[in-house]
Amino acid sequence: MVSRVIPVDPFDLVVFGATGDLAQRKILPALFRRYCAGQIPKGTRIIGAARTAYSTEGFHQALSENLTQVLAADSYDPEELAGFLQILSYIPIDGNGEAGWPELNRRLSGAAPDRVRVFYFSVGPGLFGPLAERLHSYGLTNGATRIVVEKPFGHDLASARALNRILASHFEEGQIYRIDHYLGKETVQNLMAVRFGNMLFEPLWNSQYVDHIQITVAETVGVAGREDYYDRSGAMRDMMQNHLMQLLCLIAMEPPAKFDPDAVRDEKLKVIRALDPVEPYHIVRGQYNAAPGRAGETCDGGEDLNYRETVQDQRSSTESYIALKAHISNWRWAGTPFYLRTGKRLKARSSVINVLFKDAPHSIFGEEAGRHANHLKIRLQPNEGITLSVTIKEPGPGGMRLMDVPLDMSFAEALGPKGVDPADAYERLIMDVVRGNQTLFMRGDEVEAAWAWTDPIIAGWQARGDVPKPYEGGSTGPGDADLLMRRDNREWRGINP
Ligand code: NAP
Repeated sequence: MVSRVIPVDPFDLVVFGATGDLAQRKILPALFRRYCAGQIPKGTRIIGAARTAYSTEGFHQALSENLTQVLAADSYDPEELAGFLQILSYIPIDGNGEAGWPELNRRLSGAAPDRVRVFYFSVGPGLFGPLAERLHSYGLTNGATRIVVEKPFGHDLASARALNRILASHFEEGQIYRIDHYLGKETVQNLMAVRFGNMLFEPLWNSQYVDHIQITVAETVGVAGREDYYDRSGAMRDMMQNHLMQLLCLIAMEPPAKFDPDAVRDEKLKVIRALDPVEPYHIVRGQYNAAPGRAGETCDGGEDLNYRETVQDQRSSTESYIALKAHISNWRWAGTPFYLRTGKRLKARSSVINVLFKDAPHSIFGEEAGRHANHLKIRLQPNEGITLSVTIKEPGPGGMRLMDVPLDMSFAEALGPKGVDPADAYERLIMDVVRGNQTLFMRGDEVEAAWAWTDPIIAGWQARGDVPKPYEGGSTGPGDADLLMRRDNREWRGINP
């Protein structure tokens, strides 16, 4: 089954930070893949911009070399690449100065006034304001201008508000696309399709039938290469406040009246606002040590050092792991705990949402049949897919013994022999920007509400002088996270590749 290409009109897209890691690894490869899929029409202009003094040819060469590393060999067609490079040019621009801006103006001139013009801010947040100001002062915006801003959106509520104010002084909310690439994943959207497109789940989707929900985002990589940023942020700001909160919102929100940006985002906002403050004893912070017997070995692109060695601060109390228990105070979810955890240098790279249903109220099969409960597992990565475990009779003679078996909807299997080639989250999200669809982007008030919930938690552990618990690299996290569950007579589902 081939994914459908929805045509768009020719557009202009400027990537600020085009020489940086994100642009080279994700944004430009995503655009190239959309070009190969036939979704980028003739006449489209893509411009890379950064301070590095490349000529367009020099930038093409660097990007071509990079694409051979980033893309699978069989998705790399030299002819397609030559075509893509024809619509891609480069301008050296200083976002904090005046160099390059008149040239950008010249290059974008001559287009119809309603032609979609996207400016992707793939730069540090300190440049968002200066870029927004210059886009205006150099007359680069039109009625169809959209800006895309990367995470982190602020460091706390005050800085997020300040950033929102700066952007709002130059752009309407409808022009601002705050990106969280988790929302571009196929399964995340499927989560909404499964919940709101089937009669089967929604009636059971509440505290009467759901025992608890677990959201896990586990990474095997450490913080090498991002030490400075990470040590100032930690898992709470880097992952929990945005990715995990967004997943929580999609799992917990009420059905929006329609699948439209503000209807969906209104419902997500209500979830964040209904979150209770988290009790300190419902939070476990951890910091990784080197995996046993492997200290100093190269692992996942970095030295397998412990966290403090990597950030070169033996007293760092930044968490590389966090687990917490959250409660949503509304009619649907009162009494159902949500356990969220995320960490670096864990056993496997795995992002999964587990919805654990309650036991049947009465077992007609007696004690010996054991306890069985339905379980919906939503895998975001790797192997995106959804599995529902159901209880059946164990085959064969010998009485009524029960067992749980998975009903598996692995996208690769369900959607054809080769499956749909699932577009990368960035491909989908960039094309959504071009189409003007904000459903999968965060609104300013959502981001602020998420910080309003996060800030007191961070302030609490800062006031207490909380020190993260050590955990071994390659493990499932600190033992205290298991205790958090065991105290409630529950346990984490495994972290498996
Ligand atoms: P990076 O590798 O440090 O790249 C930064 C880019 O900004 C470079 O192209 C740099 O190019 C350009 N730049 C810096 N100062 C500039 C200036 N004054 N004027 C114009 N361009 C300037 O950072 P990154 O990892 O790509 O991240 C970019 C943004 O995405 C950050 O906000 C980051 O938090 C966010 N993000 C990154 C990732 C990721 O996986 N990398 C994931 C999620 C979010 P020159 O030096 O040539 O100017």
